[in-house]
Amino acid sequence: MTTQGKARILTGDTPTSRLHIGHWVGSLENRVQLQENYDCYFLLANMHAFTTRAEKAAEIRRDTIEIVKDWLAAGIDPNRSTLVLQTEVPAIAELSWFFAMLLPFNRVMRNPTLKTEIELKDLGDKYSFGFPLYAVGQCADILAFRAELVPVGEDQVAHIEMCREVARKFAWNYCGVSPDAEDADYEKLGSIFPIPKALVGRVGRLVGVDGKNKMSKSLGNAIFLSDTPKEIKKKLGQLYTGRQTMDEPGDTDNALFQYVRAFIKDEARIKELEDRYRRGDNIGDGHIKVEVAEAIEGLLGPMRERRAQFEGPSGDDMVVNILSEHAKRANVVAEETLYLAKEKMHMQLARRRLSFE
Ligand code: ATP
Ligand code: MG
Repeated sequence: MTTQGKARILTGDTPTSRLHIGHWVGSLENRVQLQENYDCYFLLANMHAFTTRAEKAAEIRRDTIEIVKDWLAAGIDPNRSTLVLQTEVPAIAELSWFFAMLLPFNRVMRNPTLKTEIELKDLGDKYSFGFPLYAVGQCADILAFRAELVPVGEDQVAHIEMCREVARKFAWNYCGVSPDAEDADYEKLGSIFPIPKALVGRVGRLVGVDGKNKMSKSLGNAIFLSDTPKEIKKKLGQLYTGRQTMDEPGDTDNALFQYVRAFIKDEARIKELEDRYRRGDNIGDGHIKVEVAEAIEGLLGPMRERRAQFEGPSGDDMVVNILSEHAKRANVVAEETLYLAKEKMHMQLARRRLSFE
């Protein structure tokens, strides 16, 4: 809880590319709504982007700026929420070290989200030493802000579970809180960290336009928030359902219908499309794709308009200014957390005060 009595939220994105409609339904939509009632911290995991793209520093910088523009276009309000640039909050890196000691190595390597990423991104056995470390770093992102709620897509739930384990282990090792304590009681019993909860969006795993894998920035199967109507149509056109004719009964559990339910707002129309599709009642995939494209454009059109204000170098400057200003706010909270953690860990041997300009 903050001084204003609002619970804190921490969540974020890795600058591996721009944001897509999977981010919207999985997490971003919730973030925009929750800004009202929570003290929100939205993190750009630019350090984590280096775990898979160390040789692409300039691209990581570009993507970081583009993601902030996506956020602003989607309705993140920099006057209410704090935008956290991970590399400018040193307490996160320090906490990552301490937390790495609280998790067994094999526990990290067995994390199902990491395993899936290694497979999907074809990392084989070539991934860097730092790659699995990002999962530990994510625990530090969340706990540095002593967040209670983490709005994420389904793929992140395993990471949040690990973060909950770290918070409990820290409380047991250094704050004397029994592992049998109820999650809700941890702070009351002396833990400096609440046990955070994942909040999965209304679609936890939006499938990509390849019809198979999770829509992902890195997999080339995404409709980006900044795509044009033409690009949206073209990408939806690639979505293959295997259905051949307009009168062939179709499976409404397929990827196309996940999009129908995620983006068409009119419930009655969704029911009608599902019913006709199941019966093969003179309805082609092409027609449904046109309706889905219109619905997605209804969502992205206003974002595109807002984004237009931030295009070009002056938009980049504005983003850099916001990130610098907000780094101060973020550091106040994270430094306090680090101080409290070190105090619990019997580490107050010297006084250190960092200042942020
Ligand atoms: P990458 O391919 O680099 O891992 P990504 O597309 O998975 O990128 P992340 O930055 O890893 O994006 O995820 C940011 C947030 O968006 C996380 O909370 C994640 O769970 C959520 N998210 C990502 N993809 C989807 C999706 N297809 N459906 C629902 N939520 C998603
Ligand atoms: Mg991801």
